[in-house]
Amino acid sequence: MIELTIDKSKPVLVTGATGYVAGWIVKRLLEEGTTVHAAVRDPGDRHKVRHLNELAAQSPGTLRYFQADLLQPGSYAEAMDGCGLVFHTASPFTLNITDPQKELVDPAQLGTRNVLETASRTASVKRVVLTSSCAAIYGDNADLDSTATGVFTEDDWNTSSSLNHNPYAYSKTVAEQEAWRVAGRQLAWDLVVVNPSFVIGPAINPHATSESFNIVRQLGDGRMKAGAADIGVGAVDVRDLAEAHLRAAYLPVASGRTIVSGHNTSLPALAQALLPRFSAYPVPRRTLPKWMVWLLAPLVDKSTTRAFVTRNVGLPWKADNRKSIAELGMAYRPLAESIQDMFQQLIDNGLIPKH
Ligand code: NDP
Repeated sequence: MIELTIDKSKPVLVTGATGYVAGWIVKRLLEEGTTVHAAVRDPGDRHKVRHLNELAAQSPGTLRYFQADLLQPGSYAEAMDGCGLVFHTASPFTLNITDPQKELVDPAQLGTRNVLETASRTASVKRVVLTSSCAAIYGDNADLDSTATGVFTEDDWNTSSSLNHNPYAYSKTVAEQEAWRVAGRQLAWDLVVVNPSFVIGPAINPHATSESFNIVRQLGDGRMKAGAADIGVGAVDVRDLAEAHLRAAYLPVASGRTIVSGHNTSLPALAQALLPRFSAYPVPRRTLPKWMVWLLAPLVDKSTTRAFVTRNVGLPWKADNRKSIAELGMAYRPLAESIQDMFQQLIDNGLIPKH
């Protein structure tokens, strides 16, 4: 286990502190006794901040809220003032959109510019940790064919996504590119990028809106009862991901991009991992034929296009997580633990009907 030396002399900014991923980062920072500046869109929304207040009350650290919006230039300046470190996690993660430019790309790309240019104007900032995504590395599983080694690595960039095809992945790609562009124009702070695969595991925030919940919920609410599409995915536990963020922030050796992914897996394998504990639930037990998914999926869910099915279903996902292990000292918990803990929480919160 790597020992982290946490600098508690200066506050730390976390953007999007109300989010699923950010919740565990804030928890770890507060446990370490850090002063956390939580930048949120609406600090007055008691529903969204109650879990953070409860955490702060039980921890040695201190929590302060600041109102900020990715699309309001300069709105992170007050929250960043005096901070040595910035965790930039805020970015919309939703597949249910009508205007990809406005709802995904603008907040991701302009928001990253906004936060990082503020870092360049804030003398105290020494490091920015950006929550990017494996979606900035690949767009479709078919992209594996064009990699140098048959596995996604930090050298790969997503070149297949666009506003019309996988717009969320496109938003994460242009946001990370924007981050490297802004970082390259100054020398006062260094940029360390975390590239997580699909995040699973329990939330600190019971009202988290992350798309992670919608996807795992479908494994248990009956919508996939007939079977699951055979889509390869990477998965990482949200608690492991928070640890990776802290290491990216406090280990001097951390640099560049790092794939943070515990498992090369698939949708049917995630379902399979639920069965030992949740066999009474309508968890998919079969894999649907690709032709059937191609025919039906776009009718059931408008974000699953036929182009997506063609380029993802029946194809594996493989990423190389060795840099995260060698440089950040990551150890990943078992897949079954992560997916089962999350499923149980969705049942407890009434999001999956009890059986
Ligand atoms: P959440 O939806 O839970 O968190 C997203 C956060 O971004 C929320 O706090 C949200 O604030 C904030 N946000 C969105 N739009 C704006 C805006 N215009 N101004 C200010 N804040 C905004 O998702 P996750 O926790 O899953 O995602 C966190 C990060 O992790 C994102 O960058 C995402 O791309 C990345 N990621 C997530 C993965 C996953 O599988 N979950 C995988 C790989 C990367 P509010 O509460 O006000 O809506």
